[in-house]
Amino acid sequence: QAHPARQTPARTPLGQPIARRGVCLVISAPSGAGKSTIANALRAADHRLLHSVSVTTRQPRPGETEGVHYHFRTMDQFQRMAEEGEMLEWATVFGRGYGTPRAPVEAALAAGRDMVFDIDWQGHRQIRDALPDDVVSLFVLPPSLAELERRLCNRASDHAEEIARRMKAARDEISHWREFDHVIVNTELDQAIAEARAVLVAARLETRRQAGLAGFVAGFDAAGSGA
Ligand code: 5GP
Repeated sequence: QAHPARQTPARTPLGQPIARRGVCLVISAPSGAGKSTIANALRAADHRLLHSVSVTTRQPRPGETEGVHYHFRTMDQFQRMAEEGEMLEWATVFGRGYGTPRAPVEAALAAGRDMVFDIDWQGHRQIRDALPDDVVSLFVLPPSLAELERRLCNRASDHAEEIARRMKAARDEISHWREFDHVIVNTELDQAIAEARAVLVAARLETRRQAGLAGFVAGFDAAGSGA
């Protein structure tokens, strides 16, 4: 459910909105830990939150739409984008290319909009190097490996071989959990969503993102000196 009042930007006494830098919220997790569900819930509650749509060379799964879930490209197209610097970061996961298009991120940050990135640990490292002032990161752990396997088996679209490959990849992904600013265990989905939302809200409130408040506070000084 949306809470429009909470998204209203702070205003100066004259009513101008106070500019704030956008937040790049990177969420990583082994597949099946619930990261997409959490990211979707954050966006459903905040329609101004943008989603970074990655490029991938893998095939679309049933229900996935071009330009919404991913930009589906051939390996040649993907390599050309990487060579021409059109991606902020890219990595090979399960032998397939995945990458973040650069232009939408730059546009979002310039407009002071927040963006969620559903990328792996390799992407997190690169995006953190590329945008050190803008990234806040969150790692989502499953309650157990057994539960993770159960969740992967419930995804009808993945075959047994694919599930085994993803379980190995899950262990690799989990080994990087310490590199993230925040970590949550997704035992109870509602709580995990609330915790992820708390991370985003706290990042928005970081002093360094709120340079626009300087003018607002200067107004206090002016008012105080007249008293
Ligand atoms: P899936 O094929 O299940 O959609 O994604 C497989 C893995 O690729 C997930 O761990 C996901 O986070 C990661 N991934 C998706 N998009 C990107 C991206 O743009 N960059 C990187 N580095 N990883 C990505």
